[in-house]
Amino acid sequence: MIITLKNDAPQRLIQQLVDEFKSQGFEIHDSVGKNYHIIGLIGDTTNVDERQIKANLIVENVTRIASPYKKSNRFFHPEDSIIDVNGIKIGGKEKIVVIGGPCSVEGLDHICSIAQQVKDAGAVMLRGGAYKPRTSPYAFQGLETEGILDMVEARNRTGLPIVSELMDSDQIDEFEKYVDVIQIGARNMQNFTLLKAVGKRTTKPILLKRGLANTIEEWIMSAEYIMANGNEKVILCERGIRTFEKYTRNTLDLSVIPIIKEKTHLPIIIDPSHATGNWKYIESMSLAAVAAGADGLIIEVHDRPECAWSDGAQCLKPAKFAELIKKARAIAQVVGRDI
Ligand code: PEP
Ligand code: MN
Repeated sequence: MIITLKNDAPQRLIQQLVDEFKSQGFEIHDSVGKNYHIIGLIGDTTNVDERQIKANLIVENVTRIASPYKKSNRFFHPEDSIIDVNGIKIGGKEKIVVIGGPCSVEGLDHICSIAQQVKDAGAVMLRGGAYKPRTSPYAFQGLETEGILDMVEARNRTGLPIVSELMDSDQIDEFEKYVDVIQIGARNMQNFTLLKAVGKRTTKPILLKRGLANTIEEWIMSAEYIMANGNEKVILCERGIRTFEKYTRNTLDLSVIPIIKEKTHLPIIIDPSHATGNWKYIESMSLAAVAAGADGLIIEVHDRPECAWSDGAQCLKPAKFAELIKKARAIAQVVGRDI
């Protein structure tokens, strides 16, 4: 960390600041120039709050050199993390995983039928929400435990591991028992109490979606919360961010793929459904994601999108989903992967 001091800083206050850093275990590199006096802080600055240092009257500016995250940082863990979900591996050079299923679980027969159809299309995991974070309190809120048990039955019948969203730490025991991948939704990305709870209380892989309006660094810091609390199995999921654009539900930020791979060792998957909000754009965005190096895709699939209990406009019909996987497989091979 580099601290630039004000030109007129009194020597006594500079010494006080330097002594304080030394007492915290930092080595100091002092560099006095004609116009600037710079202090280099050498050591682990993960816990240092640069805004707090800036509050010091003799400090002009503070520049962070090291990232504020450690567990997820590629620098300290150069090899890709590969996360195992019932034998399906996510990350590294493993096969690109495709997860398909409805936005919400809509009953046993329905989820079992969709599960079989996404499996036949080439998906290796089933998604389905039983606890739904809806904008309106009057909208369908999910089948809750009944929905989770329907997902379990769909897994029994098809063998597909199941992914579902957890909204409250009260649900952790239920998810630990039944669910294979625990999704933390965009709206809860900065629910730090929940992140700590899934870090401490479950060893299941966590699919951490990017918040509606969060920077990549904030998202990585949320992964860090889960990891620092004991659960290192984090899969990141980009699902579009809020911008001024109205032709799509959100704006899909595909640049996260190379950035996440550069900054972290965690797998990154793309959700083109919530990103675009429109079934017409899902295939092209999926192909682009695969070309850009994504480790997986999570896509909403419904046999009758016009009747879906949530997010029908962005659901692909099973036949379209199968076509998409076929095309994505061809692109995957171009980038040295498979689906
Ligand atoms: C979902 O996956 O159905 C969902 C609500 O996602 P997000 O948190 O990305 O909006
Ligand atoms: Mn949805």
